[in-house]
Amino acid sequence: MKIVVIPGDGIGPETMAVAIDVLQAVSQKFNLNLQLEHELAGHDSLKKHGATVTDALLNKVKNADGLMLGPMSTYDFKDEAKGEINPSKFFRKSLDLYANIRPARTYPGIPSKLGEFDVVVVRENTEGFYSDRNIESGGSEMLITPDVAISLRRITRSCCERIARSAFELAMTRGQHVTLVHKANVLKIGDGIFLEECHKVAKEFPTVRVDDVIVDAMMAHMVRNPQNFDVIVTTNMFGDILSDLTAELSGSLGLGGSLNAGKDHAMGQAAHGSAPDIAGKNIANPFSQVLSASQLLAWYGQKNNKEAFLKASAAIDRAVEEAIKTGRSTKDIGGHLGTQEVGQALLTLI
Ligand code: NAD
Repeated sequence: MKIVVIPGDGIGPETMAVAIDVLQAVSQKFNLNLQLEHELAGHDSLKKHGATVTDALLNKVKNADGLMLGPMSTYDFKDEAKGEINPSKFFRKSLDLYANIRPARTYPGIPSKLGEFDVVVVRENTEGFYSDRNIESGGSEMLITPDVAISLRRITRSCCERIARSAFELAMTRGQHVTLVHKANVLKIGDGIFLEECHKVAKEFPTVRVDDVIVDAMMAHMVRNPQNFDVIVTTNMFGDILSDLTAELSGSLGLGGSLNAGKDHAMGQAAHGSAPDIAGKNIANPFSQVLSASQLLAWYGQKNNKEAFLKASAAIDRAVEEAIKTGRSTKDIGGHLGTQEVGQALLTLI
Protein backbone atom coordinates (compact mmCIF):
# COMPACT_ATOMS: atom_id res chain seq x y z
CA MET A 1 0.00 0.00 0.00
CA LYS A 2 1.40 3.31 -1.11
CA ILE A 3 0.41 6.22 1.17
CA VAL A 4 1.18 9.88 0.52
CA VAL A 5 1.87 11.59 3.85
CA ILE A 6 1.49 15.35 4.30
CA PRO A 7 2.22 16.78 7.77
CA GLY A 8 0.06 19.92 7.39
CA ASP A 9 0.09 23.16 9.36
CA GLY A 10 0.19 24.06 13.07
CA ILE A 11 0.27 20.91 15.22
CA GLY A 12 0.24 18.75 12.05
CA PRO A 13 3.99 17.95 11.92
CA GLU A 14 3.94 16.90 15.60
CA THR A 15 0.88 14.64 15.41
CA MET A 16 1.73 13.27 11.97
CA ALA A 17 5.21 12.23 13.17
CA VAL A 18 3.51 9.94 15.70
CA ALA A 19 1.11 8.57 13.08
CA ILE A 20 4.04 7.82 10.75
CA ASP A 21 5.88 5.89 13.48
CA VAL A 22 2.74 3.91 14.21
CA LEU A 23 2.19 3.11 10.53
CA GLN A 24 5.77 1.92 10.21
CA ALA A 25 5.42 -0.23 13.33
CA VAL A 26 2.27 -2.00 12.12
CA SER A 27 3.75 -2.36 8.65
CA GLN A 28 6.60 -4.34 10.13
CA LYS A 29 4.48 -6.34 12.56
CA PHE A 30 1.77 -7.31 10.06
CA ASN A 31 3.94 -7.45 6.90
CA LEU A 32 1.95 -4.71 5.19
CA ASN A 33 4.84 -3.40 3.11
CA LEU A 34 3.58 0.18 3.50
CA GLN A 35 5.40 2.66 1.30
CA LEU A 36 5.16 6.19 2.69
CA GLU A 37 5.80 9.06 0.29
CA HIS A 38 6.40 12.37 2.05
CA GLU A 39 4.95 15.50 0.46
CA LEU A 40 3.95 19.05 1.42
CA ALA A 41 0.70 21.03 1.37
CA GLY A 42 -0.55 24.17 3.10
CA HIS A 43 1.86 26.86 4.27
CA ASP A 44 5.00 24.77 3.51
CA SER A 45 3.87 24.20 -0.06
CA LEU A 46 2.82 27.84 -0.49
CA LYS A 47 6.37 28.88 0.41
CA LYS A 48 8.04 26.26 -1.75
CA HIS A 49 5.72 25.98 -4.78
CA GLY A 50 3.68 29.19 -4.62
CA ALA A 51 0.49 27.25 -3.94
CA THR A 52 -0.90 25.31 -0.99
CA VAL A 53 -1.51 22.33 -3.29
CA THR A 54 -0.43 21.51 -6.84
CA ASP A 55 -1.72 19.36 -9.70
CA ALA A 56 1.50 17.33 -9.52
CA LEU A 57 0.67 16.45 -5.92
CA LEU A 58 -2.88 15.50 -6.90
CA ASN A 59 -1.52 13.14 -9.57
CA LYS A 60 0.79 11.57 -7.04
CA VAL A 61 -2.12 11.03 -4.64
CA LYS A 62 -4.28 9.61 -7.45
CA ASN A 63 -1.59 7.04 -8.15
CA ALA A 64 -1.24 6.09 -4.49
CA ASP A 65 -3.57 3.89 -2.40
CA GLY A 66 -4.24 6.42 0.31
CA LEU A 67 -3.48 9.86 1.71
CA MET A 68 -2.65 10.95 5.23
CA LEU A 69 -3.30 14.68 5.43
CA GLY A 70 -2.42 16.76 8.47
CA PRO A 71 -4.63 19.62 9.63
CA MET A 72 -4.63 22.73 7.49
CA SER A 73 -4.74 26.39 8.49
CA THR A 74 -7.67 26.85 6.15
CA TYR A 75 -8.70 30.17 7.62
CA ASP A 76 -5.39 31.69 6.46
CA PHE A 77 -6.05 30.76 2.82
CA LYS A 78 -8.22 33.55 1.42
CA ASP A 79 -7.36 33.92 -2.28
CA GLU A 80 -7.20 30.96 -4.66
CA ALA A 81 -5.73 33.26 -7.35
CA LYS A 82 -2.67 33.59 -5.11
CA GLY A 83 -2.36 29.84 -4.68
CA GLU A 84 -4.19 29.86 -1.35
CA ILE A 85 -6.39 26.84 -1.94
CA ASN A 86 -8.00 24.91 0.92
CA PRO A 87 -6.11 21.58 0.66
CA SER A 88 -8.81 19.62 2.50
CA LYS A 89 -11.42 20.83 0.02
CA PHE A 90 -9.03 20.25 -2.90
CA PHE A 91 -8.61 16.55 -2.13
CA ARG A 92 -12.22 15.98 -1.07
CA LYS A 93 -13.50 17.50 -4.30
CA SER A 94 -10.84 16.26 -6.73
CA LEU A 95 -10.94 12.68 -5.42
CA ASP A 96 -14.70 12.69 -4.74
CA LEU A 97 -14.22 11.74 -1.09
CA TYR A 98 -17.90 12.02 -0.35
CA ALA A 99 -18.16 10.16 2.96
CA ASN A 100 -16.56 11.71 6.02
CA ILE A 101 -16.62 9.04 8.72
CA ARG A 102 -16.05 10.43 12.22
CA PRO A 103 -16.24 7.94 15.09
CA ALA A 104 -16.40 9.09 18.71
CA ARG A 105 -16.40 6.81 21.75
CA THR A 106 -15.61 7.03 25.41
CA TYR A 107 -12.56 5.21 26.82
CA PRO A 108 -11.76 3.58 30.13
CA GLY A 109 -9.34 6.02 31.72
CA ILE A 110 -11.17 9.18 30.74
CA PRO A 111 -13.96 9.97 33.20
CA SER A 112 -17.18 10.77 31.33
CA LYS A 113 -19.96 12.78 32.90
CA LEU A 114 -22.30 11.39 30.24
CA GLY A 115 -21.59 7.67 30.70
CA GLU A 116 -20.22 5.42 28.00
CA PHE A 117 -21.12 5.93 24.36
CA ASP A 118 -19.95 4.89 20.92
CA VAL A 119 -21.22 6.76 17.86
CA VAL A 120 -20.13 7.52 14.31
CA VAL A 121 -21.04 10.71 12.50
CA VAL A 122 -21.33 10.11 8.74
CA ARG A 123 -21.04 13.51 7.14
CA GLU A 124 -21.62 14.32 3.47
CA ASN A 125 -18.40 15.87 2.24
CA THR A 126 -18.83 17.22 -1.28
CA GLU A 127 -21.71 19.73 -1.30
CA GLY A 128 -24.00 21.42 1.24
CA PHE A 129 -23.10 24.82 2.66
CA TYR A 130 -19.48 24.73 1.48
CA SER A 131 -19.01 27.51 -1.03
CA ASP A 132 -15.63 26.18 -2.17
CA ARG A 133 -16.87 22.79 -3.36
CA ASN A 134 -20.54 22.87 -4.26
CA ILE A 135 -20.25 24.63 -7.61
CA GLU A 136 -18.20 23.69 -10.68
CA SER A 137 -16.76 27.09 -11.47
CA GLY A 138 -16.59 30.12 -9.17
CA GLY A 139 -17.82 30.02 -5.61
CA SER A 140 -21.30 29.89 -4.16
CA GLU A 141 -20.79 32.82 -1.81
CA MET A 142 -21.39 36.25 -3.28
CA LEU A 143 -21.07 39.83 -2.15
CA ILE A 144 -24.09 41.49 -3.71
CA THR A 145 -23.32 44.95 -2.33
CA PRO A 146 -20.63 45.80 0.26
CA ASP A 147 -23.28 45.09 2.89
CA VAL A 148 -25.15 42.15 1.40
CA ALA A 149 -23.82 38.60 1.08
CA ILE A 150 -25.49 35.45 -0.19
CA SER A 151 -24.21 31.96 0.58
CA LEU A 152 -25.79 29.08 -1.31
CA ARG A 153 -26.20 25.49 -0.21
CA ARG A 154 -26.36 22.68 -2.77
CA ILE A 155 -28.19 19.43 -2.02
CA THR A 156 -28.49 16.71 -4.68
CA ARG A 157 -30.42 13.45 -4.59
CA SER A 158 -27.38 11.49 -5.76
CA CYS A 159 -25.12 12.82 -2.97
CA CYS A 160 -27.84 12.22 -0.35
CA GLU A 161 -28.38 8.70 -1.66
CA ARG A 162 -24.71 7.75 -1.52
CA ILE A 163 -24.06 9.20 1.94
CA ALA A 164 -27.20 7.45 3.24
CA ARG A 165 -25.92 4.17 1.78
CA SER A 166 -22.55 4.65 3.53
CA ALA A 167 -24.38 5.17 6.82
CA PHE A 168 -26.69 2.17 6.50
CA GLU A 169 -23.85 -0.12 5.39
CA LEU A 170 -21.84 1.03 8.39
CA ALA A 171 -24.81 0.52 10.73
CA MET A 172 -25.04 -3.11 9.56
CA THR A 173 -21.56 -3.67 11.02
CA ARG A 174 -22.48 -1.98 14.34
CA GLY A 175 -25.68 -1.37 16.29
CA GLN A 176 -28.10 -1.38 13.28
CA HIS A 177 -29.45 2.04 14.16
CA VAL A 178 -29.26 5.15 11.97
CA THR A 179 -30.31 8.64 13.05
CA LEU A 180 -30.98 11.16 10.28
CA VAL A 181 -30.03 14.67 11.39
CA HIS A 182 -31.57 17.53 9.45
CA LYS A 183 -33.32 20.91 9.50
CA ALA A 184 -36.27 19.98 7.29
CA ASN A 185 -38.57 22.13 9.43
CA VAL A 186 -36.91 25.21 7.88
CA LEU A 187 -34.86 23.95 4.91
CA LYS A 188 -37.94 22.12 3.69
CA ILE A 189 -36.74 21.51 0.14
CA GLY A 190 -33.04 20.72 0.61
CA ASP A 191 -33.35 18.72 3.79
CA GLY A 192 -36.64 17.34 2.49
CA ILE A 193 -34.66 15.75 -0.35
CA PHE A 194 -32.05 14.51 2.13
CA LEU A 195 -34.72 12.80 4.24
CA GLU A 196 -36.51 11.31 1.22
CA GLU A 197 -33.32 9.77 -0.13
CA CYS A 198 -32.33 8.43 3.29
CA HIS A 199 -35.75 6.78 3.72
CA LYS A 200 -35.50 5.24 0.23
CA VAL A 201 -32.13 3.69 1.09
CA ALA A 202 -33.48 2.60 4.50
CA LYS A 203 -35.97 0.28 2.75
CA GLU A 204 -33.01 -1.82 1.55
CA PHE A 205 -31.91 -2.31 5.18
CA PRO A 206 -35.06 -3.52 6.93
CA THR A 207 -33.21 -4.65 10.08
CA VAL A 208 -31.83 -1.15 10.70
CA ARG A 209 -33.84 1.05 13.06
CA VAL A 210 -34.24 4.57 11.68
CA ASP A 211 -35.18 7.77 13.43
CA ASP A 212 -34.67 11.43 12.67
CA VAL A 213 -33.82 14.43 14.81
CA ILE A 214 -33.75 18.15 13.99
CA VAL A 215 -30.15 19.35 14.18
CA ASP A 216 -30.53 21.92 16.96
CA ALA A 217 -32.35 19.46 19.21
CA MET A 218 -29.70 16.88 18.30
CA MET A 219 -27.10 18.91 20.18
CA ALA A 220 -29.19 18.63 23.35
CA HIS A 221 -29.97 14.93 22.82
CA MET A 222 -26.30 14.18 22.23
CA VAL A 223 -25.26 15.89 25.44
CA ARG A 224 -28.17 14.43 27.39
CA ASN A 225 -28.20 10.81 26.20
CA PRO A 226 -25.38 9.95 23.79
CA GLN A 227 -26.14 6.25 24.42
CA ASN A 228 -29.28 6.65 22.29
CA PHE A 229 -27.22 6.93 19.11
CA ASP A 230 -25.19 4.62 16.90
CA VAL A 231 -24.68 5.91 13.35
CA ILE A 232 -25.67 9.52 12.68
CA VAL A 233 -25.94 10.67 9.06
CA THR A 234 -26.22 14.29 8.05
CA THR A 235 -25.37 16.95 5.50
CA ASN A 236 -21.96 18.60 5.29
CA MET A 237 -21.96 21.54 7.69
CA PHE A 238 -24.24 19.96 10.31
CA GLY A 239 -21.88 16.96 10.32
CA ASP A 240 -18.82 19.16 10.65
CA ILE A 241 -20.26 20.89 13.71
CA LEU A 242 -21.82 17.83 15.32
CA SER A 243 -18.64 15.75 14.98
CA ASP A 244 -16.58 18.31 16.91
CA LEU A 245 -19.16 18.01 19.69
CA THR A 246 -19.09 14.19 19.70
CA ALA A 247 -15.26 14.16 19.73
CA GLU A 248 -15.10 16.63 22.60
CA LEU A 249 -17.77 14.73 24.55
CA SER A 250 -15.67 11.58 24.17
CA GLY A 251 -12.85 13.37 26.00
CA SER A 252 -11.19 15.78 23.58
CA LEU A 253 -11.19 17.05 20.04
CA GLY A 254 -7.75 15.43 20.03
CA LEU A 255 -9.45 12.00 19.91
CA GLY A 256 -11.35 12.86 16.73
CA GLY A 257 -10.16 10.42 14.12
CA SER A 258 -11.69 10.89 10.69
CA LEU A 259 -11.67 9.23 7.28
CA ASN A 260 -12.68 10.92 4.04
CA ALA A 261 -13.65 8.10 1.72
CA GLY A 262 -14.79 7.78 -1.88
CA LYS A 263 -15.14 4.85 -4.27
CA ASP A 264 -11.48 4.71 -5.25
CA HIS A 265 -9.58 6.92 -2.82
CA ALA A 266 -9.46 7.72 0.88
CA MET A 267 -7.78 10.28 3.09
CA GLY A 268 -7.12 9.97 6.81
CA GLN A 269 -7.25 13.41 8.40
CA ALA A 270 -8.03 14.26 12.03
CA ALA A 271 -11.36 16.01 12.56
CA HIS A 272 -9.81 19.07 14.19
CA GLY A 273 -7.87 21.98 12.71
CA SER A 274 -4.25 23.09 12.96
CA ALA A 275 -4.68 24.32 16.59
CA PRO A 276 -2.27 27.27 16.35
CA ASP A 277 -2.81 27.98 20.07
CA ILE A 278 -0.87 24.82 21.02
CA ALA A 279 1.38 24.31 17.97
CA GLY A 280 5.07 23.65 18.59
CA LYS A 281 4.59 22.97 22.32
CA ASN A 282 4.66 19.15 22.25
CA ILE A 283 1.25 19.02 23.93
CA ALA A 284 -1.11 18.20 21.03
CA ASN A 285 -2.93 14.90 21.33
CA PRO A 286 -1.70 12.68 18.49
CA PHE A 287 -4.45 10.04 18.86
CA SER A 288 -6.78 11.80 16.40
CA GLN A 289 -4.22 11.44 13.62
CA VAL A 290 -3.25 7.92 14.71
CA LEU A 291 -6.91 6.81 14.73
CA SER A 292 -7.33 8.37 11.27
CA ALA A 293 -4.41 6.21 10.09
CA SER A 294 -6.14 3.18 11.56
CA GLN A 295 -9.33 4.04 9.65
CA LEU A 296 -7.35 4.38 6.41
CA LEU A 297 -5.79 0.93 6.84
CA ALA A 298 -9.20 -0.59 7.61
CA TRP A 299 -10.70 1.06 4.51
CA TYR A 300 -7.93 -0.38 2.33
CA GLY A 301 -8.23 -3.81 3.97
CA GLN A 302 -11.99 -3.94 3.40
CA LYS A 303 -11.78 -2.70 -0.16
CA ASN A 304 -9.09 -5.19 -1.16
CA ASN A 305 -10.10 -8.01 1.14
CA LYS A 306 -6.77 -7.95 2.94
CA GLU A 307 -7.11 -9.31 6.45
CA ALA A 308 -3.66 -8.12 7.61
CA PHE A 309 -4.72 -4.47 7.17
CA LEU A 310 -7.83 -5.03 9.27
CA LYS A 311 -5.71 -6.65 11.96
CA ALA A 312 -3.23 -3.76 11.87
CA SER A 313 -6.08 -1.28 12.24
CA ALA A 314 -7.50 -3.19 15.21
CA ALA A 315 -4.02 -3.32 16.79
CA ILE A 316 -3.71 0.47 16.53
CA ASP A 317 -7.12 0.98 18.12
CA ARG A 318 -6.22 -1.41 20.95
CA ALA A 319 -2.89 0.36 21.54
CA VAL A 320 -4.63 3.74 21.79
CA GLU A 321 -7.19 2.26 24.18
CA GLU A 322 -4.44 0.74 26.36
CA ALA A 323 -2.38 3.95 26.35
CA ILE A 324 -5.41 5.93 27.51
CA LYS A 325 -6.35 3.36 30.15
CA THR A 326 -2.86 3.47 31.63
CA GLY A 327 -2.58 7.27 31.54
CA ARG A 328 0.05 7.39 28.81
CA SER A 329 -1.60 10.35 27.16
CA THR A 330 -1.55 14.11 26.73
CA LYS A 331 -3.01 16.53 29.24
CA ASP A 332 -6.21 17.29 27.29
CA ILE A 333 -7.42 13.81 28.32
CA GLY A 334 -5.90 13.82 31.77
CA GLY A 335 -2.43 12.43 31.02
CA HIS A 336 0.93 13.98 31.72
CA LEU A 337 3.01 13.10 28.62
CA GLY A 338 4.04 15.20 25.67
CA THR A 339 3.07 14.38 22.07
CA GLN A 340 6.39 12.67 21.33
CA GLU A 341 6.36 10.68 24.57
CA VAL A 342 2.85 9.45 23.84
CA GLY A 343 4.13 8.31 20.46
CA GLN A 344 6.97 6.37 22.08
CA ALA A 345 4.55 4.77 24.56
CA LEU A 346 2.23 3.78 21.73
CA LEU A 347 5.04 1.95 19.93
CA THR A 348 5.58 -0.28 22.96
CA LEU A 349 1.89 -1.27 22.85
CA ILE A 350 1.76 -2.35 19.19
P1 NAD B 1 -9.00 23.70 15.96
O1 NAD B 1 -9.78 22.45 15.69
O2 NAD B 1 -7.66 23.79 15.34
O3 NAD B 1 -8.84 23.90 17.55
C1 NAD B 1 -9.97 24.03 18.41
C2 NAD B 1 -9.52 23.76 19.86
O4 NAD B 1 -9.22 22.37 20.02
C3 NAD B 1 -8.25 24.53 20.24
O5 NAD B 1 -8.33 24.89 21.60
C4 NAD B 1 -7.14 23.51 20.05
O6 NAD B 1 -6.01 23.71 20.86
C5 NAD B 1 -7.86 22.21 20.44
N1 NAD B 1 -7.29 21.05 19.72
C6 NAD B 1 -7.41 20.78 18.40
N2 NAD B 1 -6.72 19.68 18.10
C7 NAD B 1 -6.17 19.23 19.25
C8 NAD B 1 -5.33 18.12 19.58
N3 NAD B 1 -4.93 17.23 18.65
N4 NAD B 1 -4.93 17.98 20.85
C9 NAD B 1 -5.32 18.85 21.81
N5 NAD B 1 -6.12 19.91 21.56
C10 NAD B 1 -6.54 20.09 20.29
O7 NAD B 1 -9.93 24.90 15.49
P2 NAD B 1 -9.55 26.44 15.21
O8 NAD B 1 -8.56 26.92 16.22
O9 NAD B 1 -10.84 27.12 15.09
O10 NAD B 1 -8.90 26.45 13.77
C11 NAD B 1 -7.50 26.58 13.53
C12 NAD B 1 -7.27 26.46 12.03
O11 NAD B 1 -7.60 25.15 11.57
C13 NAD B 1 -8.11 27.44 11.18
O12 NAD B 1 -7.29 27.94 10.14
C14 NAD B 1 -9.21 26.55 10.63
O13 NAD B 1 -9.73 27.04 9.42
C15 NAD B 1 -8.48 25.26 10.45
N6 NAD B 1 -9.30 24.03 10.41
C16 NAD B 1 -8.84 23.06 9.58
C17 NAD B 1 -9.47 21.82 9.56
C18 NAD B 1 -8.90 20.75 8.69
O14 NAD B 1 -7.80 20.90 8.18
N7 NAD B 1 -9.59 19.65 8.50
C19 NAD B 1 -10.58 21.59 10.41
C20 NAD B 1 -11.00 22.60 11.26
C21 NAD B 1 -10.35 23.83 11.26
